[in-house]
Parts: sequence; structure tokens; C-alpha cells
Amino acid sequence: MIVAIDGPSGSGKSSVAREVARRCGLTYLDTGAMYRSVAWACLERGVDPEDAPAVARVAEGVRIEFAPGEDGQRVLVDGTDATAAIRTPEVELAVSPVSANPRVREVMVALQRAAGERGDVVAEGRDIGTVVFPAADVKVFLSASPEARARRRAVQRQGGNLACGRDVAVDAEAERKILADLMRRDAYDSSREASPLRPADDARHIDSSDLTFEEVVRAVVSLSPELSARASEGAAS
Ligand code: C5P
Repeated sequence: MIVAIDGPSGSGKSSVAREVARRCGLTYLDTGAMYRSVAWACLERGVDPEDAPAVARVAEGVRIEFAPGEDGQRVLVDGTDATAAIRTPEVELAVSPVSANPRVREVMVALQRAAGERGDVVAEGRDIGTVVFPAADVKVFLSASPEARARRRAVQRQGGNLACGRDVAVDAEAERKILADLMRRDAYDSSREASPLRPADDARHIDSSDLTFEEVVRAVVSLSPELSARASEGAAS
């Protein structure tokens, strides 16, 4: 079965998708990490993220692998562990033009579909329900207010995780910068020509601003009898 979770940066997609996958025995596919990996590979090789043909060549040649790690999934780019490196502000700046590149999207979408063919997947991103898996069994569009999203990211950067109730103090200036960056990326992702961020017509909308992590996970699982059955089986075993 395929579960598609789309939404803007910081809506909680990653934590929710990972947890739904764990509870229901599905494989988690983080497509944002794939675009970040291409952006990181470009920076490593001195390729300008705006140089479309050069970026396309990087995407065509790069090997992106996911491996289990202690704190969740590790991302290997051409064999190098880039798990932390793909989350830096430099990569965050470079990823918008990289992910707006139609050839990059073509290559990544083919890899994502191949992962879907190999088995049961929870995939999260921006175009999963609209482009990658338009026939997904469950489609969710997860959003939250920009302020709620910026706060979650700021806490995450300081080593906390609001999804797990681990709140930590954050610098107001850092939070303001994160909010500005989120809004910049949202605007870029929503207005680009290639696969803009938009909900699939048949996606179920969940606004996570005032929901706890557990409430969001349950809301997703309850959308499908198959997911609910899988979650109960997982809980019972
Ligand atoms: O989800 P995450 O913040 O890791 O995604 C990083 C970037 O990758 C996004 O800002 C967006 O530009 C791009 N992306 C995309 N399509 C996806 C997933 C991510 O364009 N399916």
C-alpha cells in the first residue's frame, strides 16, 4: 500500500510519516532528503545550484541511499554519510532552485516510484499525491501555521523535538530567521512551474497547528481501515 503525505516545510510531515510507517509496518520514504542530497552534492562539487544543465548532470549521476541509524534514517550520498550535512542552512538555500529543476524532478520521481514498486511505503514531500503516486491508497495534506512550523524547526535545531514533548529554549532571532526562510521556501515551492506544492484534489487536509503529535498520527492512521488494522496488529505483537 502507498501512503502519500504532502505539505509545506515544518508541517511535521517527516516525524508523522516516520511514525505512521513504524506503527503500520511500512517503509518510510523521505523525498525531501533526496532533493537535499542533490543540492548538497552540487555544493560539494562547486556546481552553481542555478546552473540547470550542470545540476541535472549531478542528479543523473548521484547515488542516494537510506540506511538505518541510531537516531532514525541515515542518508548516504555516493557512499558518504550526509545525514547532518543535508540539513544545514547552506543546503536549505540551495535546495529551492535544485528542486525546481524539471530534469532533477524527473530523475528523483523515477527513483521514488521504483521504491514504491518494491513494497509498502509512506512517502512524504510536496508532490507525492499529485505527481509521484497519484493513485496512492491514502493521501494527506498536512499543514500548520507558519509560526507553529518555525517554532518546531527552531526547537529541532537546538536538539529538542516538540513531536516528542522535548521543548528547549530557542533564540528569538534564530526563530525569526527560520520563519523567514520557511516562508521564502513555501513561496518558491508553491509558485514554481515544475510540480508546485499543492494538495491533490482527493487529499485529506489536516492542520497540525493545535494538535499534538499523537493526535496527528492517529488522524492519519484512522483515514484508512487497512492502516488502522496494521497499527492494531503492530500494537498487539
Ligand atoms: O521536506 P524538506 O524540507 O526536507 O524538503 C526540502 C526541499 O526539497 C523543499 O524545500 C522543496 O523545495 C523540495 N522538495 C520537493 N519535492 C518533494 C520534497 C521536497 O520539491 N517531494
